[in-house]
Amino acid sequence: MKQRNVSRREPRKDRLIREEVHDPYKARLKLAEPSVCSQCGAVFQKGRWAWTSPPSGAQEALCQACRRINDGYPAGEVTLSGGFLNQHRQEILNLARNQEEQEKSERPLHRIMAIEDGQDGVLIKTTDIHLPRRIGEAVHSAYEGELDYRYNEDTYFIRVSWRRDD
Ligand SMILES: [Zn+2]
Repeated sequence: MKQRNVSRREPRKDRLIREEVHDPYKARLKLAEPSVCSQCGAVFQKGRWAWTSPPSGAQEALCQACRRINDGYPAGEVTLSGGFLNQHRQEILNLARNQEEQEKSERPLHRIMAIEDGQDGVLIKTTDIHLPRRIGEAVHSAYEGELDYRYNEDTYFIRVSWRRDD
């Protein structure tokens, strides 16, 4: 018999938004406007990052996503595991990548920074705390299985786990 256990411990949205202010990588950054990230080319103006051509006079800076990538310090992780993953690995990872593409096109600082094979399955590391939920929800809605969220306010870190065994 097929099991359909769904567990969701979803952090409240207002909490996520409030906590974003406390992203240590964001707080440390005092940016002039306009600025352009010298690593990824994202442009900061009117208080947000966008993919656009840098206006004249833009100062060079490093966005917090590139800082996290350089430091190897993710804000979120998605763990994918279970026997089902082994049989559908590529399509599941394609789905995760597609979610990233869509998210990143609107929010340049929301990115996958690494996909690693671990003992337990696949580990996807992200530069932000929103993309892991998006990936987890997409995988869960496409393939069912079990989905779990753990958000730690103090460390500004989200861990999303998805598992399907059969
Ligand atoms: Zn950047």
